[in-house]
Amino acid sequence: MSKILSVRDLHVSYGAIKAVRGISFDIEEGEIVTLIGANGAGKSSTLNCIAGLFRPVGGEVEFKGQSIVGVKPHKIVERGLALCPEGRRVFTRMSVAENLDMGGYTRSDDENAKTLEVVYEHFPRLRERVGQFAGTMSGGEQQMLAMGRALMSRPDLLMLDEPSMGLAPILVDEIFSIIKELNKLGTTILLVEQNASMALSIADRGYVLETGTISKTGTGAALLHDDDVKRAYLGG
Ligand code: ATP
Repeated sequence: MSKILSVRDLHVSYGAIKAVRGISFDIEEGEIVTLIGANGAGKSSTLNCIAGLFRPVGGEVEFKGQSIVGVKPHKIVERGLALCPEGRRVFTRMSVAENLDMGGYTRSDDENAKTLEVVYEHFPRLRERVGQFAGTMSGGEQQMLAMGRALMSRPDLLMLDEPSMGLAPILVDEIFSIIKELNKLGTTILLVEQNASMALSIADRGYVLETGTISKTGTGAALLHDDDVKRAYLGG
């Protein structure tokens, strides 16, 4: 295995607010790694910063051995790193097909035609709803669309920000089994979740974020059985 992402001493601030205070972590190719933590711990800030949506105030982010600090978000997507953002952020007044088309803008039409078939295999419901406006779909369907849109760029590393948020338990199960399947097929995953038990149960490794710093790390299984983690994030 080789390192696909390396984050070193990352600092993210919004004016005087220090959201991320010097975190470091690595992801190996083929892994599922999760960042768990309470509201406001800095999880989304970390993902958004890696995706290039804003520049860190300090630290380094290397993707496939090259720095991506200061690289424009669309160029980061072209290098093989995609973000499926918190709250889905689908284009509500566009159809399912148009949303997926937007996700494939870095790729050729031929490539997109092939990837679209792969996306529809993972998410058959999107094929059924291909002409429907995204804004009229259920939360679960919008989540599938947001994931499908991110997959259209054929990422080597897919970052998922709270994919289970607001979904019924049966859909949470479905989304998590799709994440596992995508990983088995070769996509490395960085998963941010408040549903810590689900996230840790599918993750190779996890990091616990508390007020912008990493307080604990370990394998998914070890963190799932860690007393502090159980008390703080697993309801017991
Ligand atoms: P959540 O699960 O609630 O999204 P999180 O762990 O993803 O939490 P962040 O959204 O990264 O946490 O927020 C980290 C800190 O940064 C919080 O104190 C938050 O209020 C603050 N913050 C986030 N975005 C902004 C912003 N655009 N402007 C100012 N402060 C922000």
